[in-house]
Amino acid sequence: MYDVCIIGAGVVGMNIARELSRYKLRVCVLEKEADVSCGCSKANSGIVHGGYSDESGSLKAELCVAGNRLYQQLDAELCFGYRQTGSMVLAFREEDVAKLEKLYNQGLRNGVQGLSVISGEQAREMEPHLSREVKAALYCENAGVTSPYEFVIALAENAVENGVELRLNTEVTAIQPFDGWFTIVTSAGELVARTVVNAAGVYSDAIASMIGIDDFRITPRRGQYLLLDKDQNYLVKSVIFQVPTELGKGILVTTTYHGNLMIGPNAEDIGDKADVGTDEETIRRIVLAARKSVPGFDMKKALTSFAGNRPIANRTDFVIEASKVKGFINLIGIDSPGLTASPAIALKVVDILEMAGLELVKKSSFQPCRQPIIRKKSADFNGRIDSPDPENHIICRCEQVTEAEIIDSLHRGIPVQSLDAVKLRTRAGMGKCQGAFCGSRVRQLLARELNIPLEEVTQRGKRSSVLAQRAKRGDYMNL
Ligand SMILES: Cc1cc2nc3c(=O)[nH]c(=O)nc-3n(C[C@H](O)[C@H](O)[C@H](O)COP(=O)(O)OP(=O)(O)OC[C@H]3O[C@@H](n4cnc5c(N)ncnc54)[C@H](O)[C@@H]3O)c2cc1C
Repeated sequence: MYDVCIIGAGVVGMNIARELSRYKLRVCVLEKEADVSCGCSKANSGIVHGGYSDESGSLKAELCVAGNRLYQQLDAELCFGYRQTGSMVLAFREEDVAKLEKLYNQGLRNGVQGLSVISGEQAREMEPHLSREVKAALYCENAGVTSPYEFVIALAENAVENGVELRLNTEVTAIQPFDGWFTIVTSAGELVARTVVNAAGVYSDAIASMIGIDDFRITPRRGQYLLLDKDQNYLVKSVIFQVPTELGKGILVTTTYHGNLMIGPNAEDIGDKADVGTDEETIRRIVLAARKSVPGFDMKKALTSFAGNRPIANRTDFVIEASKVKGFINLIGIDSPGLTASPAIALKVVDILEMAGLELVKKSSFQPCRQPIIRKKSADFNGRIDSPDPENHIICRCEQVTEAEIIDSLHRGIPVQSLDAVKLRTRAGMGKCQGAFCGSRVRQLLARELNIPLEEVTQRGKRSSVLAQRAKRGDYMNL
């Protein structure tokens, strides 16, 4: 029996779980996949937005600004990777400059600090590799970049350390209210909870309909990306947007938290919520659009493509509310800026739960801090691929990942059993060779540490067979 059952271990569900772990409560998180952060919290731009893009007075605007302000402190506690870089929205035509002014004024109304409209020359002084066609830009000092999946992993590890129960490979299939409680039926058995939080991303409409709330429909809006080698990151320091369109914030060019150049995402409404494939034609259009902002990147340095699906609801704003079924809280349509807003969303949900009658008594044992998995390598780091010392034994050459880091990632209270799970935690396989060198070495380490046969180590857990179609690298490298 639980006080709170959270459905979905994305950035929203895990922020809520970690926040609730401050209190004397029995909390569980149910996740259908084999790891946390398998939904759109894994595949997004990783931008901590300033908060000027959303309409004043909306929940999106309020919680984006509030969430942005929490990142620095959260990163200090949880060490997941966050850097304030600033962002620019570029205008290429006179009519775009008026749009910048509109965003600027909206930002001021939303309480965003550090905003200014600058000329094309000023923008190029700050970012010398911007196109000569840039006429003006909206500069936002407070925007930044984060490692989105490491954020979720850090929240999950910390929540589990503070007593939250995380059940992976557990798909919710039905919810039955009874006498002020809920029976939650899952692919791994039943459990009972006093309150339920629906944080199921693109599937949150399906979860709501399990208790008879059929007002919501989520359409997945796919965004494809291209990731380039770290040697291209000299091109931009801040996040470079173009003026937004009907479909969203448009194509951006950014350096990721770990230093790769990244371009994307497009926006396409699709039918299949699980389809995170990429295709050559879309990548070609993304490359053309990104070159409008930053012409100089070298497509021969492209490493891989990926995609994520935004949960677009039939309401424009975030839905974060106590539903008509007492004790059942809905979070629906948490699309961008949901990553930025997630820490503030969690605080709002805790308030809603308290108003619904949940008693919040603080735990003196709450431990706010979590150590990083990836260790900064000092100048005298003596890593070798044949070192007998795990601290110096390099498993992944491209990203300099050591045996000690991989072993550490396996023993943090969350089952880590696939190559992808290790990759998200340590970056083994994320470099130039995309795992060609380290894949088999990580597999051997996993088999040894988990004491299982080599062939039982999968790429991404139980659903290994469901591989997304990816655009062929050879086809876009010559663009
Ligand atoms: C292309 C793209 C770019 C974006 N860029 C940004 C950005 O730069 N900055 C920003 O602030 N935001 C951005 N966002 C938005 C942000 O990624 C989302 O708002 C955020 O990740 C939503 O998190 P979530 O936890 O609600 O959803 P998810 O991460 O999707 O988590 C939901 C979880 O619920 C689980 N689940 C679903 N159904 C069930 C079930 N029946 N039983 C058990 N578990 C279930 C899923 O497996 C999943 O793990 C972007 C989104 C996309 C797609």
